[in-house]
Amino acid sequence: MAVRIIETQSPEETFLLGKSIGEAAVPGQIYTLHGDLGVGKTLFTQGVAAGLGISGVVSSPTFTILQVYEDGRLPFYHFDVYRIADIEEMEELGYDDCFFGEGITFIEWAERIEEIIPENHISITIEKNLERGFDYRRITIEE
Ligand code: ADP
Ligand code: MG
Repeated sequence: MAVRIIETQSPEETFLLGKSIGEAAVPGQIYTLHGDLGVGKTLFTQGVAAGLGISGVVSSPTFTILQVYEDGRLPFYHFDVYRIADIEEMEELGYDDCFFGEGITFIEWAERIEEIIPENHISITIEKNLERGFDYRRITIEE
């Protein structure tokens, strides 16, 4: 397992890190995103979408669970499972077509659906440290 730790000092830097991930992403990759509310998961994901060449606005799919973007280099499946009640709901959404398809999957709050996350995924954790300032973020990428 490789672990990369990147520290960012601004929203722009986090966006650009996401963008570089989007540019390098390959079909079938599954990313889980971890971190408290307001830490920057959606902002990071917006960077990924930009890196995939997606032009539309990427907002947090908290109320819809899943947003699909098909106008980029690869299909992009953005899940926010914060409000998921049970795994059945994921099945109703047809999550396996996303996870095991030719696109890129990003899952915010993935720990809520741990039992269906394939072992072979990339985990991204974003953390604040207020001693380092309001805009500091520590981003850990494990794959
Ligand atoms: P989440 O999806 O984790 O709830 P959001 O991406 O919606 O969080 O919001 C993150 C907020 O934190 C934004 O308002 C953003 O401007 C702010 N922010 C400040 N510094 C950073 C940073 N270094 N990286 C990411 N976001 C930051
Ligand atoms: Mg969010």
